Amino acid sequence: MLNTMMAQLIPFLPQDLVWLFSKRYIAGIDVDDALEVSKELNSQGMKVTLDILGEFIFTMDEAKQNTRAYMELIQALEGSGIDGNLSLKPTMFGLLLDKEGCYRHLWEIVNKAVECNTFIRIDMEDSGCTSMEIELFRRLRAEFPRHVGLVVQAYLKRTLRDLNNLMDLHTEETPLNFRLCKGIYTEPASIAFQQYHVINAHYLEDLEFMFKNKIYAGVATHDATLVEKAFDLIEHYKVPKHMVEFQMLYGVTPKLRQSILDKGYDMRVYIPFGDQWFGYSTRRLKENPTMVTHIVKSLFMKG
Ligand SMILES: Cc1cc2nc3c(=O)[nH]c(=O)nc-3n(C[C@H](O)[C@H](O)[C@H](O)COP(=O)(O)OP(=O)(O)OC[C@H]3O[C@@H](n4cnc5c(N)ncnc54)[C@H](O)[C@@H]3O)c2cc1C
Repeated sequence: MLNTMMAQLIPFLPQDLVWLFSKRYIAGIDVDDALEVSKELNSQGMKVTLDILGEFIFTMDEAKQNTRAYMELIQALEGSGIDGNLSLKPTMFGLLLDKEGCYRHLWEIVNKAVECNTFIRIDMEDSGCTSMEIELFRRLRAEFPRHVGLVVQAYLKRTLRDLNNLMDLHTEETPLNFRLCKGIYTEPASIAFQQYHVINAHYLEDLEFMFKNKIYAGVATHDATLVEKAFDLIEHYKVPKHMVEFQMLYGVTPKLRQSILDKGYDMRVYIPFGDQWFGYSTRRLKENPTMVTHIVKSLFMKG
């Protein structure tokens, strides 16, 4: 209740004040800020994935600008020597305005990623986008099998079926590459599991499916219980270290992050940045008011 009230209030606070809350989770405003944070994390043994903030657009001109921004980011990443790749949200490229135009923008970006030998991960947005985002992935993966991956959400009841359906794209030579997360949007009970234990059980079911089928898995969670259970599955299925990585959001649970690194597993940190950080922060808070607790905590806690 208090979280919800605070989340409603935050859009009306001065940006400087909100930045105090947000800076632990957002690398900064421009590419240089993101590259600097990436270098720092690389020096601590972590890989990164970079995400330019800004989701909802109203014109395809904005989609074009976002495409240009990603192309520049890919170029900058290539020249930097950073061990990292990119994540993107299809709605920023016009998914809800012009599906075919969005596909063409993503095609350009993934094609550039091939040129610069990097990798594009398609983030998964709310359930209104799920089928369209899977379809985009299908088309891009057919053409660029080594350079594009998708996110799937354990809270969606459809996910295991989606994973099964995508198996026709999978080969041992070019395995499918998924990030598995719980899912951050508020979705109705008709399509999404709601309870912590049920979501976790399905998370592990999806992860087991990936390991069993030799799919490359990005285990994206800050939940220590899930991390522990993921290690049990890794051991059970004898998953080689090059077929799995853990992923966490910038600024979240650094101790758990370090404990995974200490075991010799790859850790990739998701780094959002960009001048639309304010809208991003306030939207995220409205979508998931419990984040307020984390943000408020971050004011008082370090490390
Ligand atoms: C790398 C990465 C990429 C993601 N990409 C997507 C995506 O494409 N689509 C999508 O819908 N969702 C995405 N998510 C978000 C994800 O779906 C969850 O909403 C989020 O990670 C919280 O779930 P959890 O697994 O950490 O478990 P939870 O049960 O929510 O959290 C476990 C514990 O982690 C800590 N924690 C969790 N989140 C935070 C936080 N923000 N700040 C501080 N502590 C925290 C808390 O201590 C909490 O008790 C991504 C998450 C990660 C890590």
